[in-house]
Amino acid sequence: MINFQYTRANDVPEAVGLIGRNPNAKFIAGGTNLIDLMKMDVEQPTTIVDITRLPLKQIEGMPAGGLRIGALVRNTDLAYHPLVERRYPVLASAIMAGASQQLRNMASTGGNLLQRTRCHYFYDAAATCNKREPGSGCSAIDGNNRMHAILGASETCIAVHPSDMCVALAILEAEVHVTSVSGDRVIAFADLHRLPGDTPQRDTSLNADEIITAVELPPQGFAKNYTYLKIRDRLSYAFALVSVAVGLELDGDIIKEARFALGGVAHKPWRDPQAEAVLRGQPAVATTFANAANVVLRDAKGYGGNTFKIDLARRGIARALTQAARGTPQSQSSKKII
Ligand code: SF4
Repeated sequence: MINFQYTRANDVPEAVGLIGRNPNAKFIAGGTNLIDLMKMDVEQPTTIVDITRLPLKQIEGMPAGGLRIGALVRNTDLAYHPLVERRYPVLASAIMAGASQQLRNMASTGGNLLQRTRCHYFYDAAATCNKREPGSGCSAIDGNNRMHAILGASETCIAVHPSDMCVALAILEAEVHVTSVSGDRVIAFADLHRLPGDTPQRDTSLNADEIITAVELPPQGFAKNYTYLKIRDRLSYAFALVSVAVGLELDGDIIKEARFALGGVAHKPWRDPQAEAVLRGQPAVATTFANAANVVLRDAKGYGGNTFKIDLARRGIARALTQAARGTPQSQSSKKII
């Protein structure tokens, strides 16, 4: 770890001013990913800007029925907030599936969105990695790629986004509010995270001088028919091999509205409008679910160690859609898959 300066921002204008003046500065909130990255010399900021005192810790119901979540709301506080538990239980469930209680107590909403891949080569300075050092190569493509992407990968990077929370935010169609010295803007959640393409060093569409101030959820929360199913090597404190967030609206046995997203399979939470369209207007039965899974996985590609994920995802999608349609969401306290 290199030496760095520590400074504390007291308000948002001061924070964006500090980061705008120094391209080698980084914000720190919970620090649950940044400190690891600094220890491994993946991130080498010259200045750390502590933003934990910024007034971004509120969860507020919106007049039109949505929810505004401050960027510094801790993961635990968000998961247990009564409005989230009641109106957006898929979000609460996804958060509770992630990390450990201690990490959720520290991690912030904004930080969760911006956490970096856990590809082990990314953290290993002795390995080639295009994300850490553009143009150096990708050790994972012909290496140990059990945890890596089966959708949307490129020849330069096959890493996956590690968040559980973000998979739920994808189906909720959240909006991400950001600001910089140049002003405010709103990013649709689907446009926040990028596919690697030939610039895998860029995880998101956020500019280096911008800060996330809030995440807003529209009113539609799919509180009746939802699930977050996470399949992993251990039942806790493990990243997803495959996860599936589902929100359905049913009219009897017919699916009126359907959204689902996959985690652990791509550089971003993976939603596919064509696969969701396959579900709408159809009976909520196994053949419908299998059709949707086939569509979303039509271009899936394995790299040897992770090829098993294609079938795992197919089964996971069918199981998650079944759970949501039955109104029997996956429990995150008893993780036995039902
Ligand atoms: Fe680096 Fe991406 Fe390859 Fe992992 S998959 S080694 S993060 S380039």
